[in-house]
Amino acid sequence: MKKIFVTSQYPGESVKHLSQKYDVSVYPKATLPTREEFLENAKGCSGLITTVADVVDKKVIDLCPELQIVSNSAVGYENVDIPYATKKGILVTNTPNVLTETTADLAWALMFSVARRIVQADGYVREGNFTCWHPSLLLGMNIHGSTLGVYGLGRIGTAVANRAQGFNMRVIYQNRSRNEKAESETGGQYVDFETLLKESDFIVITAPLTDDTRGKFGYEEFRKMKPTSIIVNVGRGPIIKERELAEALKEGEIWGAGLDVFEDEPKVDSELLLAPNALLTPHIGSASIETREKMIDMAVTSVELALGGEVPKHLVNPEVLDSN
Ligand code: NAP
Repeated sequence: MKKIFVTSQYPGESVKHLSQKYDVSVYPKATLPTREEFLENAKGCSGLITTVADVVDKKVIDLCPELQIVSNSAVGYENVDIPYATKKGILVTNTPNVLTETTADLAWALMFSVARRIVQADGYVREGNFTCWHPSLLLGMNIHGSTLGVYGLGRIGTAVANRAQGFNMRVIYQNRSRNEKAESETGGQYVDFETLLKESDFIVITAPLTDDTRGKFGYEEFRKMKPTSIIVNVGRGPIIKERELAEALKEGEIWGAGLDVFEDEPKVDSELLLAPNALLTPHIGSASIETREKMIDMAVTSVELALGGEVPKHLVNPEVLDSN
C-alpha cells in the first residue's frame, strides 16, 4: 500500500477518505512536525500533504525515492524545491482560488483594525481606561474615500480591490504587467511602483515571494509613502524588510502596518513587536473553517489523482510532465 504523510490535522473528512485507499499517517500533535519528525515520517512515502511551513528540499526528496506528489496546502510554494522536484519527476500542486476571498477578508480586517486602532481601543476599555469620552481619543484614519494601492493584483489582490468599491475608494495597482481583466472588474488603475508608494493611503501586498519581490519594501520605500499611510502584508513576509519597517514606523515615515506574514516565520523582529502602530497576526490569511476544509479537499484530490496516474489540476510544475 502506498504511503502518504499529512503534516498537520485539518477539519473535515477528506483525509479519512484517503485512508481507505492508502497507508495514511497524520502528524498527531497540534503543532507542525519538527524537521527530524518530518524527515522520519516522509521516508518511503509516495505522497506528502504539506503546508508552507514544511521545507521540502533536496534532502527530503532524496529520502523518498518513491515520492510521486507533494501536495502543498497553500497557494505559495516557495517551501518546495521546485527545480529539484521536477528533475526527480515529482508533481507539485497547490490550492489556489478556494482561499482567495478569505485572505482578502483578512487584508481588510487588518486595514480596518490598524486604521481605526481597534486592538488598542479594545485594550483601552478592558484595562479600565474608559473613564470619560474625549474628542481626541484614539483618533485613526479614514478608509472610505481613500486610495488603495495593491501590490500584486492577482486573485487575492483583485478580491481585496473589489471590496474597495463599497468604500468609494480609488484603486491603483502594480504588477509586472497590466491585468486588464482585473482592471475592468475592480476599476483599478495600473501605475508604476513609485506612484503606488506616493499616492496610496493603504498599500496591500498580495504578491508572491520571488527574487523580484524579496525585500521590495524597505526604509527608502516607506520614506516615499505618505506619513499617514498604512501598509498591510498578506502576501509573504520577506517582501518587507521587517527591521526597516519597524524603524519607519518609529520615525513616523508611515502611520501603521498590519502584517499577517513575516520575514523569518515564526520569528518576528523584536523592534516590530514593540511598535504600537503595528498589528501582527500569525499567518492566518486563509484560516477559516470552511476554507481550510476546501484546501484540504483540494490537496487530497490532487494526491488521489497523482497516485492514480492522472494529472492533478493545480500543478505548479507542469514541465514535470515532459520528463515523466
Ligand atoms: P496570483 O493570482 O498569482 O497573484 C499574484 C499577483 O502578483 C499577480 O497579479 C502577479 O502579476 C503579481 N506579481 C508577481 N510578481 C510581481 C512583482 N515582481 N511585482 C508586482 N506584482 C507581481 O496569486 P494569489 O492567489 O493572489 O496569491 C498571492 C500570494 O498571496 C501567494 O503567492 C501567497 O504567497 C500569498 N498568500 C498568503 C496567504 C496568507 O495566509 N497570508 C494566503 C494565501 C496566499 P504579474 O505576474 O503580472 O506580475
